[in-house]
Amino acid sequence: MEKIHWKKVVSDPNYIGEADFAEGEEKVLTIGRINAAETVETAEGKSKKAVVHWKEPGHKPMILNVARSKNIEKVAGSPYFEDWPGVQVQLYIEHGIKAFGEVVSAVRVRPHKPRVQRQAPLPPCTDCGNPIEPAMGKDARWLAAYTTKNYGVPLCAGCAQKRKEATAETQQEAESSAEVQQTEEPIPEVNPDTGEVL
Ligand SMILES: [Zn+2]
Repeated sequence: MEKIHWKKVVSDPNYIGEADFAEGEEKVLTIGRINAAETVETAEGKSKKAVVHWKEPGHKPMILNVARSKNIEKVAGSPYFEDWPGVQVQLYIEHGIKAFGEVVSAVRVRPHKPRVQRQAPLPPCTDCGNPIEPAMGKDARWLAAYTTKNYGVPLCAGCAQKRKEATAETQQEAESSAEVQQTEEPIPEVNPDTGEVL
C-alpha cells in the first residue's frame, strides 16, 4: 500500500473546509468564476489547481477535485467550466470518508439543485402594520402561516383575536338562523424552516 503523507490529508486553511461549517450546516453558494489553474500553496508547496470562487462575499474558495466536479456537472447540466458561473450548489460535510487509508471529513457538493431554502422575510400584520411577534408559545412564522390560512392575510396575535371575535359574532347570527354545525378548524402543520403550511 502507498504511504500516506500527512500533508495530503491536512486541508489548506485558505480554502473552504470542514472548519468552515457548523455541525450539520449546509451552505448554498453561487459559483462566481472558475480559475482553472490557480496557484495553491499547501504544506507540500505550490501547485496548480482548479478553484471555484463564489459570488457571495465572505466565503473561502473551493478547490475542485473529481467528486466535487462530477456533482457540479450534474447540477449545472454541463461539464464545461464556462457554463458554471451563476450555478447554485449546496455544500455539506461528509464524515467518515476513507482517503489515503485514513478516515477524514470532506466538503462535498450535493448532486442536485439546492434544497435549503432561504427564509423569506416575514410580512407585517395586515391589520395594524406592526411586525408579527411570537405569541401563545408559537413563533412569529407559525402565527403568520396560521393566520394566512384562516383569514387569508398574515396577522399579529392581537388582530387575529379581534378578527376571531368578529367572525364568532357573525357565526352566532348565522347559526341561530340556519343552525349550521360549525366544526373546529384543525391546526395546520407548519414547516418551521420556511413557515409554509404543509
Ligand atoms: Zn396586528
